Amino acid sequence: MTQRILVVEDNKNNRSLIRDILIFHDYQVVVATDGQEGINLARELMPDLVLMDIQMPGMDGMTAGRILKADTATSGLKIIALTSFAMRGDEEKFLAAGFDGYLSKPLNTRKFPGQVKQWLDAGGYI
Ligand SMILES: [Mg+2]
Repeated sequence: MTQRILVVEDNKNNRSLIRDILIFHDYQVVVATDGQEGINLARELMPDLVLMDIQMPGMDGMTAGRILKADTATSGLKIIALTSFAMRGDEEKFLAAGFDGYLSKPLNTRKFPGQVKQWLDAGGYI
């Protein structure tokens, strides 16, 4: 069965880039543009992986990730933080919030498909 990935990202260009790469690798992709829409779609679809941008207007990704991880219905979802303001210490913040992984932007388009596959296959923090 095709694996479904929810991409929550407010930036149109990033959203399109991520979506195109994932579709090229035969994943089914659903997109959301803010945290609340992301939460709604995550609850409705229970995707195999959620790529969650951190900086978004409205509800940010950190808040949305925490809400999904605090809810027993969605706490098992694999949620990867996407951030463009990578700084030392961020990784600990994402781990503490319950995220399953961390990806800094700009995206390394060569490595990205392998990272996605690894998260889907094994889970765990990479
Ligand atoms: Mg953003």
